[in-house]
Amino acid sequence: MHTHDDMISVEEARERILAHIATLESEESAVLDALGQVLAEDVYAPFNIPPMDNSAMDGYAVQFDDIARASAEQPATLDVLGLVAAGYIADRPVRPGTAMRIMTGAPVPAGADTVVPFEETDEVDQRNRGLASTAITRIGIRDAAPLGSNVRSTGGDVQQGALILAKGSVLGAAHIGVLASLGKGRAAVIRRPSVVILATGDELKEPGEPIGPGQIYNSNSYAIAAQVVACGGRPKLLPIARDTVQDLQEKVRLGLHADLFITSAGVSTGEYDLVKDVLTSEGTMDFWRVRMRPGKPLAFGMLRRPDGSTLPHLGLPGNPVSSMVAFDQFARPAILKMMGRLINARVTITATLQEPVINTDPRRFYARVIVTRTNNRYYARLTGPQGSNVLTSMALANGLLIVPEHQELAPEGSEVQVQLFEGSEDLLG
Ligand code: AMP
Ligand code: MG
Repeated sequence: MHTHDDMISVEEARERILAHIATLESEESAVLDALGQVLAEDVYAPFNIPPMDNSAMDGYAVQFDDIARASAEQPATLDVLGLVAAGYIADRPVRPGTAMRIMTGAPVPAGADTVVPFEETDEVDQRNRGLASTAITRIGIRDAAPLGSNVRSTGGDVQQGALILAKGSVLGAAHIGVLASLGKGRAAVIRRPSVVILATGDELKEPGEPIGPGQIYNSNSYAIAAQVVACGGRPKLLPIARDTVQDLQEKVRLGLHADLFITSAGVSTGEYDLVKDVLTSEGTMDFWRVRMRPGKPLAFGMLRRPDGSTLPHLGLPGNPVSSMVAFDQFARPAILKMMGRLINARVTITATLQEPVINTDPRRFYARVIVTRTNNRYYARLTGPQGSNVLTSMALANGLLIVPEHQELAPEGSEVQVQLFEGSEDLLG
């Protein structure tokens, strides 16, 4: 018999796991693949951005002195030298009394210091009279743009030699854009962990296969794989292991190259719960009861590779909700730590409970809830039945309500803590 006393807290379980997790090495990666990865090098600018003064508008590049006193009543009239588009260099300089038609992003011609937008010239009138814009030879400037207007100056965004992205930055879409703007198609990042997933159980069939009496589909491997992807790892599914020592051993050996080995099921105390025996023979393993619901039985240990090195193994419980909740609390922080990120929990908000939630046993209860926001306040209600087998409750939920250990009731109307799932950002906006 196990008493509640030999249960460990969620925090203790997480600490014990993370103590065995090392951040992985870095590797060169295509920046296109690096979203969410941690930069493993300082990135300096090899050149200025913009590389040359360029135009912020479609208009006319001029010398400020020529237009300083221009107005609608007394336009400054200049000779048009030609056109310069983005990607080209003007074929002649702008001198007093002249202008160069210029497009957004085109380098400002030598001699010019100011760009006057089309709207402040008589170009539209000339076009209305039937002249093609390229045939315009004289342009009337109707407004005195300030010196330097609409010129984006060299190095205005990025200065050559400056530190642009520091080692340790988590690469978001903008960082990836910045790397590309510096001409980098590849960058050194902490590599993604490869995570092997092994479902165990005689009752399991893969989706797409016909199913017989007493059998169910393996959903855990798929949900876990998706959770791995969501936190940045690379999942790999092994074929289902049957509840025999030999098959489990065989399947475990197929996955020893991974950075993290995740099993589902077989960690309860039943007749066929062989995972902990087999994994003990393949390495070292602790079997824990964690003071949480769902997700109490949890295995953690190190598996031995033939060369003597080891990899961490996390044995998640079999019930689909337990598996997902335990992943979120333990596997996710482990994968993020491997990727160089120190994140233990999800974004937690305070919500007002819309119905009472009863916590029947002295474990921390993670209840599946639907969080909504009205007038800048969050509200939470249960998804319905909370059995650890009710996987659809996870699909309905956008967060996990936490009822602390030893709290028997979270009353309706009380303030509660909710961990938000991925994709709940719309609630925060
Ligand atoms: P176990 O820990 O092996 O006793 O499994 C606990 C419960 O989870 C049982 O009802 C299993 O049928 C179910 N289960 C185990 N593995 C999976 C899986 N991969 N997908 C869906 N349900 C599972
Ligand atoms: Mg089983």
